[in-house]
Amino acid sequence: MDQVKTKKETIAIIGAGPSGLACAYFLGGMGYKTEIFDENAVPGGLPIYAVPSSRIHTDTIMNEVENLKKTGAVFHNGVKAGGDINIDSLFKEGFDAIFIGAGLWKPAGLDVPGINLKGVYAALDFLIRFNIYDRKLIPGAAPPEAGDKVVVIGGGNVAIDSILAVKSLGAKDASILCLEAAEEMPSYKNEWEEALALGAVFYNRARTLEITGENGRVSGVKAVKVALKEGEKFGIDNLEDIPGSEFFIEADTVIEAVGQRPDEGFTSTLTGVDLTERGLIKTDAETLKTSRAGVFAGGDIAEGPSNIAVAIKDGKKAASSIDKYLKSLKAYGVNIA
Ligand SMILES: Cc1cc2nc3c(=O)[nH]c(=O)nc-3n(C[C@H](O)[C@H](O)[C@H](O)COP(=O)(O)OP(=O)(O)OC[C@H]3O[C@@H](n4cnc5c(N)ncnc54)[C@H](O)[C@@H]3O)c2cc1C
Repeated sequence: MDQVKTKKETIAIIGAGPSGLACAYFLGGMGYKTEIFDENAVPGGLPIYAVPSSRIHTDTIMNEVENLKKTGAVFHNGVKAGGDINIDSLFKEGFDAIFIGAGLWKPAGLDVPGINLKGVYAALDFLIRFNIYDRKLIPGAAPPEAGDKVVVIGGGNVAIDSILAVKSLGAKDASILCLEAAEEMPSYKNEWEEALALGAVFYNRARTLEITGENGRVSGVKAVKVALKEGEKFGIDNLEDIPGSEFFIEADTVIEAVGQRPDEGFTSTLTGVDLTERGLIKTDAETLKTSRAGVFAGGDIAEGPSNIAVAIKDGKKAASSIDKYLKSLKAYGVNIA
C-alpha cells in the first residue's frame, strides 16, 4: 500500500464497517486522504459488534484497522452522522466527496402483543451487548441477561448467532421459532447445525401470536403452526394458520431476530439523497453514486442486509467511482463521472 498521499483531495467516510474500511483502503492506495467517522467507540462495524468472535476474531479486524491507520487514514470514533455531523457540514468543512457505509443498525421490529415486556430483546441490541462484553470492547462491561429458557424468533443467521450467544451465557433451553421449514431457513446450514449441536430446539413453520407475561415480565410465547398454501412457494403471504394447532413455549427471555432497517434519524438528514421504498439509500448499481453529486453509498445501507464480501466489494467499487468523479471535477470543473 502506498503510504504517500499524492492527491490533495480528502474523502469523508461515514461508517467504519467493512464497506467504509474497504473504501478507505482503496482510496488510500490511490493517494487520497480519508477521514472515517463512526458513532461507535471501536471501528469494525457489525463484524466486531454483532458477529460472534468464534467466527471473526477481534484481532483480525483490529489488524485491518491498524494497517489502515498506518496508511494515513484518520479515524473519528464516537461521532454520529445525523447528529454531531451531517453531509452538508462535511462538504462545508471542505471534504471533496463522501462515502456512506452506515449499515443497518435498527431492528425491523416484530408486531405482536407483549413485545414491550421485560425480557424481550431485539437480536441486534442483545448481540451488541454480548459482543461488547465477550470481545471486551468496553473493559468490565456486563453481559446481557440470557435467562434459563430462551426463545429466539426468526430463522436467519442473526437468530442462530443469538442462540450461540445465549448458550455461551449459560441458557439451559434455547429454541428457534420461525416461519420457514428447516430447508428454507436463510441461515447458513453449518450455522444451524452448530445451534442444533448445542441442544437448540427448532419450531419450524410456526408463527408467533403473542409474547405472554406475568407481572410485566416474559412468561412464554404463544404460536400457531402454519402450512404453505397449495402449489405456492415460501413467502409470508403464502402461509396459512393451521386451525387448532396453537402451542405455548415457556420462556423467561425472548429475542426477536426478524431483520434490520436503516436508522431514519440518520437517513432523514441526507439532504438531496434519494431513498428507496424500504428506506435504503438509492444508488446507481454500476457506480454506487447517489442522487447527490459527490455522495456515494454501499454495503447494507444500499444493498439491504447482505454480507461482508458484498460490503467490501462495494467499498472498492465506490473508491474507483470517487476517483473518477474527483478527476472529472479537476479536469472540467464539473461532474461527468
Ligand atoms: C448477527 C450478524 C451476524 C452476521 N454474520 C455474518 C457472517 O458470518 N458473514 C458475513 O459475511 N456477514 C455476516 N453478517 C452481515 C455483515 O456483518 C454485514 O453485511 C456487513 O457488516 C455490512 O457492512 P457495512 O459496511 O455495510 O456496515 P456495518 O458493518 O453495519 O458497519 C456500519 C458502521 O457504520 C456505523 N454507523 C452507523 N450509523 C452511523 C451514523 N449515523 N454515524 C456514524 N457511524 C454510523 C456503525 O457504527 C458501523 O461501524 C452478519 C450480520 C449480523 C447482524
